[in-house]
Amino acid sequence: MFLARILGKLIITFTRAKTRKTGSFIKRKEPCSFCGEKSGLKIAEVRYWDLATCNVIHCEKCELTQLDPKLSKQATATGCTAYYLREAQRATAKSEFRNKLRNFRRGIALASQ
Ligand SMILES: [Zn+2]
Repeated sequence: MFLARILGKLIITFTRAKTRKTGSFIKRKEPCSFCGEKSGLKIAEVRYWDLATCNVIHCEKCELTQLDPKLSKQATATGCTAYYLREAQRATAKSEFRNKLRNFRRGIALASQ
């Protein structure tokens, strides 16, 4: 009983604690999608294939973490196509058959709801 009460308080403390993010505070290229803030904490820089380089920005006002600038629709479409083609080259005939069978079963399950 006593142990459960202490454990409960510890869980509440840990779930309420904010995760500390490190990085440099910069002016964003695009405002935050949620709150419109024009600056944020740069926590990383990522390259999306050879299509775009974006900062990963954490908004300290609303806690949203997102890419800055966001990927364009064209870059997203091109990247998804490249990813699909790469994965298609990696798949063996056996794994491809398993995937199609699994997707077929999911389609049947979805249609029968
Ligand atoms: Zn925000």
